[in-house]
Amino acid sequence: MGIVVQKFGGSSVADAQKIRDCATHVLDAIRDGDRVVVVVSAMGDSTDDLLKLVSGVSARPDKRELDQLLATGELVSVALVAMTLQSLGQPARSLTGGQAGILTDDAFGRAGILNIDDRALLALLDAGIVPVVAGFQGVTAGGEVTTLGRGGSDTTAVALAAKLGARCEILKDVDGVYTADPRIVPGAQRLSTVTYDEMLEAAALGSQVIHPRAVELAKKFNDTLSVKHSHEPQRGGTLIVGESGSSTGRVVSSVVLKRGVCRVSIRGLADRAGIQSEVFQPLAMARVPIDDIIQEEDGPGTINLTFTLDKNDAAEASGVVHAVAGKIGVQAVRIDGGLATVSAVGSGMRYTPGVAARMFAALGDAGVRIENISTSEIRISIVVAEGDAQRTTACIHDAFGLNAPAPVTSPTIHVRADGMGTRPA
Ligand code: ASP
Ligand code: MG
Repeated sequence: MGIVVQKFGGSSVADAQKIRDCATHVLDAIRDGDRVVVVVSAMGDSTDDLLKLVSGVSARPDKRELDQLLATGELVSVALVAMTLQSLGQPARSLTGGQAGILTDDAFGRAGILNIDDRALLALLDAGIVPVVAGFQGVTAGGEVTTLGRGGSDTTAVALAAKLGARCEILKDVDGVYTADPRIVPGAQRLSTVTYDEMLEAAALGSQVIHPRAVELAKKFNDTLSVKHSHEPQRGGTLIVGESGSSTGRVVSSVVLKRGVCRVSIRGLADRAGIQSEVFQPLAMARVPIDDIIQEEDGPGTINLTFTLDKNDAAEASGVVHAVAGKIGVQAVRIDGGLATVSAVGSGMRYTPGVAARMFAALGDAGVRIENISTSEIRISIVVAEGDAQRTTACIHDAFGLNAPAPVTSPTIHVRADGMGTRPA
């Protein structure tokens, strides 16, 4: 009889009926013999609604007060979930992060968990009472309420699971991780397993299945972590596994598309030490996130720097780069929009040669023009015209045989291979 931490996302508890569906899922697990700890996010968009209230009263709110306010979103949902369980005959008790023993530092708005005192949780479990813990929050040693940063409830769930030696289920309005977005590639399949590293790469590319910090934590503690649909768990889900347990039987497990990419090219920079810092330091000061950077030789004594970023940051970046260019003297600055990044992600790439060759052969046959290429150990990303994005995604997906259901290769995974994916409900 194990402990399972079940985390329900905001859209899964958005109204009374959805809360009842979540409660049913909790009761099913208890019937199966599990001891359940529930972690809940704030209902629907209520955290955003709280932030809107703030903008009405203050342009620069105090961080302590902001956390005091934002933490209330989860208090609403935990009390309602506990009442729902009780109304179904299941003893339950809602807890704030602090009451659940989650001790954090005092970095308001992005607090880190320092320690978890699990005595209150264990006492409730021993008494047959389901603890319903407010996600995304904790308390400092001095008793101040803190929050863990947006999307932090996943982190709460994973941290509790690590402390309790429990399995962790992330239940949301998608039923797992897919080989591609099914709205873009209709043949996309739900993956029964992905590795922590694949999840981290996908998260960096904008897939929002599990918060990246929670994946990091799960990887560190080797948590058993899965994603399932909150209202139709029987649909299956995706299990996140370590490298050794990775047995999707695929070199590439998913193809991720990011639209709205913009490219900045600076030509004719003096080729001297520190020049890159003169460009990227001011961008960092302006808080512009940069994706991939490419440097190449230009003529004698000069280089070109090219980098990509989100189109929403393009105006800001343009201002900064033109100011820098004026100061240090360059030949030209060029900013192109209308681009997309398509990435093939797969832990198996580490050990398998010829992945790039296969991908580029397929793209060549399809006549796709590639604007830029960048890679990590387990990812190959290309930049293409946004108009080519969809067919490029489909082409790579096809080249790696992802339209066919994954072969099941590991009996250990098979046990809990309920699938997981990113298909919208
Ligand atoms: N309610 C918080 C947010 O919207 C935390 C979470 O959903 O995980 O960011
Ligand atoms: Mg939320």
